[in-house]
Formats: sequence, structure tokens, C-alpha cells
Amino acid sequence: MTAHKFGFDTQQLHAGQVPDPAVRARAVPIYQSTSFVFKDFASAKAINAIDEFGYEYSRTGNPTNEVLETRVAALEGGTAALSLASGAAAVTYAILNVATAGDEIVAGRAVYGGTFSLLAHTLPKYGVKTIFVDPDRPEDFDAAVTERTKAIFVETIGNPNANVVDVDAVARIAKARGIPLIVDNTLATPYLFRPFEHGANVVVHSATKYIGGHGNSIGGLIVDGGNFNWAGGKFPSFTTPDPSYNGLIHWERWGAYPGIGNFAFVMKARLQYLRDMGACLSPLNAFLLLIGLETLSFRVERQVQSAQRLAEFLAAHPDVAWVNHPGLKNSPYHDLAQRILPKGAGAVFSFGIRGGEARAAKFVEAVKVFSFLANVGDSKSLIVHPATVTHAQLNATQLAQAGITPELIRLSVGTEDVDDLIWDLEQAFEATKP
Ligand SMILES: *Cc1c(COP(=O)(O)O)cnc(C)c1O
Repeated sequence: MTAHKFGFDTQQLHAGQVPDPAVRARAVPIYQSTSFVFKDFASAKAINAIDEFGYEYSRTGNPTNEVLETRVAALEGGTAALSLASGAAAVTYAILNVATAGDEIVAGRAVYGGTFSLLAHTLPKYGVKTIFVDPDRPEDFDAAVTERTKAIFVETIGNPNANVVDVDAVARIAKARGIPLIVDNTLATPYLFRPFEHGANVVVHSATKYIGGHGNSIGGLIVDGGNFNWAGGKFPSFTTPDPSYNGLIHWERWGAYPGIGNFAFVMKARLQYLRDMGACLSPLNAFLLLIGLETLSFRVERQVQSAQRLAEFLAAHPDVAWVNHPGLKNSPYHDLAQRILPKGAGAVFSFGIRGGEARAAKFVEAVKVFSFLANVGDSKSLIVHPATVTHAQLNATQLAQAGITPELIRLSVGTEDVDDLIWDLEQAFEATKP
């Protein structure tokens, strides 16, 4: 029995859960409790020395959250995961876990807006500098690595232009340089792409998007690939005594743990950054994200099919100047996407409307099925004008570098009938004819 490897659809329903031992509830119980009663003095002592895993206080661990963590780790093929209050917290803690003042990160330039401002503006105030490079050119990541570089950071599929990163090539560079590759896999999801199978070491998610999938909860995760040797010399915070934890050495304790393997990255993030900075996920949100996760593969399968149909419809439309979708033959990412994203290249993409910003403004108000809002990955189809909404904080140069032009409209394709989505876009083109 133990040799049998369960498939994705089974794991998204079952991984990490056994029916609740107290009352045998089938659904994952919402343990909406700040704290947990110690069994006895010895157990309290053992839990606090981490000689025993047990629940104490929900900032650093909660049984509902743990099901989500174990399930996402299983779906990604990692050793462990850490749930957090948002995707932004997941990105922040993942970076802080490797870099301190004087260190550097090398990141793709097209990263999510919040990640960009974290790396470009907030972390430099604390001495952590990021060098941004063209994510289409793996060799540029290599050229930007210095003695001080502590990680490479990329997103599998970028937003809004659906640029695909050659994760294998970037992972080879990170490996040769002895630094971890952190991949934000939010837009791909583990259903379309599993970064650890392509050499990544850490995965981060905004669970707010496809994992939850129903636009009701903000959440994030860090997943440990268990495949990075933190004892290579560049990461003393893993290999020397942690004064904030009574001298615990993370790599010694969590580098080869019985039954788990190497989950030092996630444990250090939990014990240091979640403990001290506190962006914990609410158990109720973990429950809602788990309900969404049960149908991840079915939703995403449908969403990528519909996105492909819409991209083809738009590419043939006289009122459309261009379409950025890796599933189109003329996309510069077409061949790469065929190779690394054979199930589909995501369901978030952009197109340029003839008539520029003035018509885009009318178009986002004219749609009837799509919702005009700032989010992606919902079961409902979404539309936005990135230059004035999601990316409004970028200056003109940054907008140009991110490929965000005034006529650009971003779609996040949901699970509605695709014919209704095509109808909706067509009626919006008609309603906004100059
Ligand atoms: C939304 C998003 C984030 C931030 O996640 P929140 O849950 O909104 O904090 C990070 N990365 C990507 C790719 C995202 O789409």
C-alpha cells in the first residue's frame, strides 16, 4: 500500500488529512482557537524545545493550517510548507530567510507588482539589494550573481503578459552558483507546473489566486523543495547556533529529519520570521482555501482551455492590435510553453485594444460577465486595465520595461461557459466602437 503513489486529483482532496480523531469529522475542522491546552508539564517542555511537534499558539502552528500546508507540499512534491496570511508575506519571509543586510537577490524584472516594490523599495531600506534582469535571458541571471547573492527569484508565468521563464535554465545557473532558486508558482499552480521537478529549491504561492480559486480569502504559502544543501557555506544562519532559539542549529535539526527529509527552509521561516513578524493565516481562511484546493485541477484545466479559445478569438479580431498568450503560434514563449507547460500556459493573459486607453476605459465598463477588478485566478472571469490599476505605482520607465502599454487589457479567464465569455467580449467591442 505505501508504495502506491496517489495522483494529483486524489491528493488535492485527501493529502494531509485523516478524519478528525476527536469526532471523526469528514471535512477538515476549523480549529478557530488561538491556543491549545498542554497535555502535561513534560509535553509543554518538549513542544517548546521542539523535541516533540505539538500545537501551542496559532501564530506559529494550527491544525487546520497544517492540513493546507501538508496538502500543498504534497501537490508541489516538496517536503513541507508554511502557510501565511498572504502571498506577499510568503514572498517576504522567503527572501528574509536567506538574505540579511549586505546581501543581494537577483530577480526577473517582470515580477508581480507587490514583489517588485518589496525588492526595489522596501528591502533596500534594510540593506538587501535586488538586481533585476530580463527574465527571457537566463544568461543575464548568471551575469548578475555576485559573492553576495543569496537567491534567484522568478515567476513561472508572469503577469500581465504571460511571459514564461525557462526555469530549467535558471535553475542550472543557481545550482552552479550554490544559491537557491525561489519560484513564485502562483499563476502556473502545481497542476500545470511543478518547479521542484525543474530544479527549483523553494516555491511560493499567493493562495489567494488559483489555490483558493473563489475570490474569498487572502493567503500564501512557502514550500520547501528539500533539495538544497544549506551547509554549502553561504548560509550561516542555517548552520550556526540561532541565538533566538536557545542555540538551535536549523540545518542540524531539520536537514535530514526522520520521515520528512530536509525541511530546514520552512522550519527556519516558521521559527524565526513567523514567530517574530506574525503574518499567520487565519484557520477559517485555511479552511476556505482547502475547499477551493479540492477542485484545483478541474478548474485550471477548464480555465486554460477557455483562455486558449479566447486568445485565438482575440487574435483574429479586427479591433485587437495584439495578443500575448504563450498558446499562440506567434508568441515568443510558444515553444518554451509547449515544453515546460504541456497542460496549458495559464489563464491570465493580455491583449491590446485598438483605440488605446480611451477605448480600454470604456471596454472594462462594458463587459457583463467579466468583473472589472484587481485579482486573478478566481473561478469568475476578471478584467483589468493594468496601467491605471494593478501597475499604477510604476513609473513610465518601469511600465515600459514590464511591457504595460496604455491599450493593454488583462484577462483572467474563469470557468464560465466559454461561449458566454466570447459573447461578452464581442458585445463589449460592439458597445465601444469609436
Ligand atoms: C497576488 C500575487 C502575489 C501576492 O499575493 P497576495 O495574496 O495578494 O498577498 C504574489 N505573487 C503573485 C504572482 C501574485 O499574483
